[in-house]
Amino acid sequence: LDDVSKVYTIGDTEVRALDHASLCIKEGEFVSIIGPSGSGKSTMMNIIGCLDIADEGHYYLNGQPIESYSENDLARIRNKQIGFIFQNFNLIGNLTAEENVELPLIYQKVPKAQRQALVDQALVRVQLGKRKDHKPTELSGGQQQRVAIARAIATKPSLFLADEPTGNLDSATGEEIMKLFHELHDAGHTIVLITHDEEVAVQASRIIRIKDGHVKEVSR
Ligand code: ATP
Ligand code: MG
Repeated sequence: LDDVSKVYTIGDTEVRALDHASLCIKEGEFVSIIGPSGSGKSTMMNIIGCLDIADEGHYYLNGQPIESYSENDLARIRNKQIGFIFQNFNLIGNLTAEENVELPLIYQKVPKAQRQALVDQALVRVQLGKRKDHKPTELSGGQQQRVAIARAIATKPSLFLADEPTGNLDSATGEEIMKLFHELHDAGHTIVLITHDEEVAVQASRIIRIKDGHVKEVSR
């Protein structure tokens, strides 16, 4: 991100959610972005994840300015290169764990035979191989988040972008989720983890602190 700003206007109130924010994340890094509520973390995640665009400044993804990508390119990046993980898991309630993990693969038109193998591997990876027929309400919060991570893993993204992934979990369960992120990082994936929890943030290799929409400090 190079000098990125994002302004929301509601009525005659302007909110500068990002205010000249600059940062650089390299492939293969495990970075946490920490800041208080309202500091612009989710806004930043949306821009990094190509879900939203900056009003000012530039965002470069894979070294290329985001404006140089077509809408099709961006859709492909969102679907195949980035695995999104959210605080509230975003699982579909009437689908089983297995069906939730399979869904993005169906959107990607992955053939059925391949889908099954990818879904099985992803669920085993998060240690839920025996829970694939369970619906979200039949799983604990930590298990639901593991299904959500399996859903991201199945698409084999290079970047995992997680917004408060441990925010709804107790600290022991949060630790399990962090362990999974460490394993994914060790396997070569880039991890960008957004949090307001100092104990979670310090587990990353580098900490980016944001306040009032801009980067205040980068440590390590
Ligand atoms: P939290 O830790 O509470 O999730 P955050 O750091 O993720 O906070 P953002 O959601 O990025 O913060 O919001 C930054 C600022 O932008 C806030 O003041 C918020 O009210 C404002 N904002 C965010 N999204 C919108 C929107 N769609 N419309 C208007 N204002 C918004
Ligand atoms: Mg947020």
